[in-house]
Amino acid sequence: MEKIKMTTPLVEMDGDEMTRILWEMIKEELLLPFVDLKTEYYDLGLENRDHTDDQVTVDAAEATKKYKVAVKCATITPNASRVEEYHLKKMWKSPNGTIRALLDGTVFRAPILVKGIEPYVRTWKKPITLARHAYGDVYKASEMRIPGPGKVELVYTAADQSTVSTLVHEFQGAGIVQGMHNLDASIESFAKSCFQYALDLKQDLWFAAKDTISKQYDHHFKDVFEEVYEREYREAFEKAGITYFYTLIDDAVARVVKSEGGFIWACKNYDGDVMSDLVATAFGSLAMMTSVLVSPKGYYEYEAAHGTVQRHYYKHLKGEETSTNSMATIFAWSGALRKRGELDGSKELMHFADLLEQASIQTIESGRMTKDLALITSLTDVTVLSSRDFIKAVREELEKMMA
Ligand code: NAP
Ligand code: MG
Repeated sequence: MEKIKMTTPLVEMDGDEMTRILWEMIKEELLLPFVDLKTEYYDLGLENRDHTDDQVTVDAAEATKKYKVAVKCATITPNASRVEEYHLKKMWKSPNGTIRALLDGTVFRAPILVKGIEPYVRTWKKPITLARHAYGDVYKASEMRIPGPGKVELVYTAADQSTVSTLVHEFQGAGIVQGMHNLDASIESFAKSCFQYALDLKQDLWFAAKDTISKQYDHHFKDVFEEVYEREYREAFEKAGITYFYTLIDDAVARVVKSEGGFIWACKNYDGDVMSDLVATAFGSLAMMTSVLVSPKGYYEYEAAHGTVQRHYYKHLKGEETSTNSMATIFAWSGALRKRGELDGSKELMHFADLLEQASIQTIESGRMTKDLALITSLTDVTVLSSRDFIKAVREELEKMMA
């Protein structure tokens, strides 16, 4: 069989621990036999990040700007114990944070749905993709404890030293106060990434905030989304037959629970933090969540939403068999290959991405799965497979489909 050709490379970012082991297996069993794989390889494993003083992470992000599509393996974000474990020169920053800052992107998370792993919410039939604004608000707030009676004001001092102020509260006794901010540029980037991705997926976009109570702050988010939509996206949305829809956050929550799914839900930073865990848990499994960073300039970086699965890796190092779920990492590859195919006009590559996903889903639906899913499935005739045997089972399905 002739392998599928690629014209432009993908940026490949290798990672750490158990997911690094899965990465190699996926390439060997599911990609290299079928695709004439072209990648520009960056080793974001912690040792190499330390060795290069984290320059490799910056280089990988820059390469993503050049080639537009990247696929990333999960990586360790070092903490004090990792600094000791890997004898690091310093506590390097989160690679995802570094890449996101360079690409100015928004992260979209979506579950992989399979028969036999039922969402806790009965009505959900299609994935709900959650987009979280990753800048500002309470995550960059200044706070103060107010010890007793007194006045608190917000004061803005302009470059020419003129000031505008507003009263926060006349305290009669002790209390607390918080000041937070956001930036027009950041909100606009967030909005653009959301509209762009909705067009990519051909799905409706929902955005929700609390503009009835926060008449300046949240209202401004609503206004920016509205302006960007009218100026740049309305026409394309109408052509694609999708809608942009704004509602209050409490109304959105009620609608989401009663919905069938199949849309993108954009959230402000804090709402996104809370709601992404709610949506992920309600769909059944963290190991089945995919994640893609979309920049307003049209760069895409695909990955799994979970981490490096450290506990399984230590078992692997001791020579014990592991049963780690590779679905989200397989879908990171299929997502990246599909996007590469789309940008390069390669129907073959896009088709291969579809088949790879179908083969993976079919494997699980036929009762062959890793331990994490076996524990929660509603299927009765189940075979629990090791990390490698699951990937081999997917390969068998894929070979049948390709034949
Ligand atoms: P984790 O790797 O997501 O794993 C937490 C637990 O969830 C695992 O111990 C396992 O439970 C279960 N799990 C997650 N993914 C699974 C999979 N694919 N198959 C089967 N079970 C799975 O989180 P962590 O252990 O807290 O973090 C480990 C490292 O990952 C940390 O160094 C962190 O910095 C990094 N991290 C990286 C990213 C990223 O690169 N995007 C994201 C998050 C965390 P059981 O042990 O019960 O089987
Ligand atoms: Mg959280």
